[in-house]
Parts: sequence; structure tokens; C-alpha cells
Amino acid sequence: MKKSYKTKTKDYILDFLSSHKNKRFSAKEIYDSIIQDNKNINLATIYRNLQALQDEGVLLKHQASDNDYATYQYIENSNCLAHFHFECKKCGKVVHLGAKETNDFLKMIKTKMFFTVEPQNTYITGICNDCKGVFFEI
Ligand SMILES: [Zn+2]
Ligand SMILES: [Zn+2]
Repeated sequence: MKKSYKTKTKDYILDFLSSHKNKRFSAKEIYDSIIQDNKNINLATIYRNLQALQDEGVLLKHQASDNDYATYQYIENSNCLAHFHFECKKCGKVVHLGAKETNDFLKMIKTKMFFTVEPQNTYITGICNDCKGVFFEI
């Protein structure tokens, strides 16, 4: 049976993001990767499907500000909406912070800074353990 065009694009996006679980990508990066295998896909379709997947709770969308481009990350479990993510500046790997650590941090910021942080929209950048190891060996 022939799949609909829309479903197909969605499958490509899911395939790509789920095989790169601990990284996030812009719509353009996803498009550039998918277009190599499927010339019929256009960027507008990618955006539409990314929105649909986000609505279904499959993808985590991050946008630092209205002027910034959005990035998308595959959600392994629903906890991704409730915890912080660390992102390595060198290799782009995303590391998930535990629920307890996230809650302790949120509580501390709220009591001391009177600020409510949105964990699902926060990536803390730094250097991951693997890259640090490489760095110190040089
Ligand atoms: Zn996560
Ligand atoms: Zn790294």
C-alpha cells in the first residue's frame, strides 16, 4: 500500500532524529540530511511535520528567543519536558539531568532568585566528559 506523502516525510524525520537521540538539530539541518535520500521533500513540509511531531509530544522544540532559529530533539521519555539538558560545545552531545537534581535546582532558583525557569526550554552548554578527556590528553 502506498503511504501518503505527509506520513512519509514524518517517517524520515523520525528516523533521522531517533537515530541521533542525544543531539538537537535545526529544521534546515534535518532537511539537508533527508534531502540526500529523498529529493521530493521541501523545507515547508519539514516545518509542518516538525510542528505535528511536537504537538504529539515526540519532539522537544527549543527556541532561545523569537529571533533565534528553533532546534528539535527526539524525546526518549516524557521526562525530557521536565528536566534540564546539558549540551557539549565540542561534539553537540545532549546529556539529560535527573529529575531530582532538576527539582533541587528549580527550587533553589525560585527561593533565592524569585525566578521560574522553564527546564524544557533550557540547554546549559559546556564540555562533556568525553571531550574533556580528549582535551586533557592533547
Ligand atoms: Zn531529556
Ligand atoms: Zn562532547
